[in-house]
Amino acid sequence: MIGAQFGDEAKGKISDFLAADARYVVRSAGGPNTGHTIHLPEGNVVLHQVACGVLRHGCVGVSGPGMVLQPMKLEEEVLELQRRGLLRGELVVSERAHVLLPVHEIEDAWQDDLRAVKNPGAQLGTTRRGIGPAYEDRYGRWGIRMGDLSRPAVVRERLELLYAVKAHLPGLPPIDPLAAQLVETGARLAPYVRPTETMLWDAVARGDSVLLEGAQSTLLDVDFGTYPYVTSSHPTSAGAMMGSGIPPTELDTVVGVAKAYCTRVGAGPFPTEDSGPRGEFLRRVGGERGATTGRERRTGWLDLVLLRYAARLNGFTSLAITKVDVLGGEDTVPVCVQYVLPDGTTVRDGLPLDASDLAKVQPVYERLDGWPLFHERLKERVRREGASALPVPLRQFLEFIAQETGVPVEYVGYGPGREETVWLGPPAPPGRPRAMTAWSG
Ligand code: GDP
Repeated sequence: MIGAQFGDEAKGKISDFLAADARYVVRSAGGPNTGHTIHLPEGNVVLHQVACGVLRHGCVGVSGPGMVLQPMKLEEEVLELQRRGLLRGELVVSERAHVLLPVHEIEDAWQDDLRAVKNPGAQLGTTRRGIGPAYEDRYGRWGIRMGDLSRPAVVRERLELLYAVKAHLPGLPPIDPLAAQLVETGARLAPYVRPTETMLWDAVARGDSVLLEGAQSTLLDVDFGTYPYVTSSHPTSAGAMMGSGIPPTELDTVVGVAKAYCTRVGAGPFPTEDSGPRGEFLRRVGGERGATTGRERRTGWLDLVLLRYAARLNGFTSLAITKVDVLGGEDTVPVCVQYVLPDGTTVRDGLPLDASDLAKVQPVYERLDGWPLFHERLKERVRREGASALPVPLRQFLEFIAQETGVPVEYVGYGPGREETVWLGPPAPPGRPRAMTAWSG
């Protein structure tokens, strides 16, 4: 399951829905920058560093090898879930996941401030949770892994090296207490930390269903997103395989999750952004505020150029379209079908290399008929009767998305509640996508 836009597509809710049939749920990238919100009968829960499988009896939630984990925050999250009686499944943490340190948080803020000083327009608006610097150190081979926390000498030696390379950073906490804290926290987390590769290979070999829960989203991929306004990992289907250790040949379905409109947090191009009253309406009705940072999200309209790109990059076999209730009661719903470039040419497919070029395109909209408000009676009918109770204009909207992307819509989210997702049936074989022109800008 992969986020198809800029994040916050309600992946938490869709993976919780899909987890009902899964024996394992694996997070393969990201860390404490993630906030997957799930509305349970017991109240809301926001998961940061654990996979939603931990919420279900009989399910194993794996924090996978590709993640960067802040151990102290992970322990807090686990204790809080235990306190609320929500840690019902099993939690497993990969020994290969990297440790995100306080120094990474300091460095994250320092780097983004530096960008702002050098060129205010270049600030990325990161979450300042240290994700980027933690991945830098992973690839720079300075990193400490979760499994290393049981070896105090390794922790100490790596910290000293790291502090030597990062001596320019202000306010680094002293090494001794930090090393002690890491080792002590590591000892308390040790029952969860183990190799996950063989466990997952065996699960796949037995035919157990394994759900890879995407975090962050396609257009934030470090290589294929709107660089440099991206995250530091690969939130794509290929990245999910790499970050879990499951071979690509074992993948059979790829569900792309997209909102019926679009949002973006932080800086970066957003062609269909609506800064007017309708954008404000989406923010208010959709509750578009970050689950982790509380930051307001920028809002706009569904962008099929970007969705086609995400579909082709990830090989989506079906789509989950969420938050359709937010648009209920609107006369028409704008959907971007192509862009016009500054030189007048049109584009339906592909992403330009430079984010500034994407910022200059003019979206071309089709205005589709709106559907009624999702009041309680309609929700009740959909719960009882399934997809056939969805209003006709909404079904036409979903069909339009399927036709334009070549990917069938399989799930629809019509409210935040756990049961407010409807399955449209098995995806039909994808129709032939319409002719697509390559990016020529
Ligand atoms: P994620 O990071 O992709 O899981 O997304 P977030 O959790 O940040 O944002 C999704 C928000 O929308 C959460 O508050 C969800 O409870 C809520 N939500 C999920 N699905 C729906 C839906 O179909 N309709 C509405 N109105 N809200 C939803």
